[in-house]
Amino acid sequence: MSECIFCKIVAGQIPCAKVYEDDHVLAFLDINPLMPGHTLLITKKHAETIFDLSAEEAAACGAALPKVASAVFKAMGAEGMNILQNNYEISGQEIFHVHFHLMPRKTGDGFKVPWPAK
Ligand code: IMP
Repeated sequence: MSECIFCKIVAGQIPCAKVYEDDHVLAFLDINPLMPGHTLLITKKHAETIFDLSAEEAAACGAALPKVASAVFKAMGAEGMNILQNNYEISGQEIFHVHFHLMPRKTGDGFKVPWPAK
């Protein structure tokens, strides 16, 4: 039995607020959101980082990302969106199961991008 939290979500052993699902990926709301609508898109198959994805999983992420990002963007009435993906501890990765953060942005949301913003 995997000890990976995201594998447990995929298996239905831990509940999630599901946003999207297909054969290869699952998207759900982040449990500790940095802003309203903060969504995680994960691969259903366990892979620790983006470097561990098979071509098939990478293609599935590529197909799902714009679709799910657009749905979240519209649902939240966002003005912009950051899409962030961390690999290894130094980058901020805490869950070692590949995932993309979809972060809808609104004026005054207080989120600071991790590089000099305009
Ligand atoms: P990382 O720092 O890029 O690895 O991001 C991990 C994210 O997973 C964080 O934003 C957490 O809030 C989120 N997270 C951790 N456990 C859960 C959960 O059980 N459900 C939903 N999101 C989670």
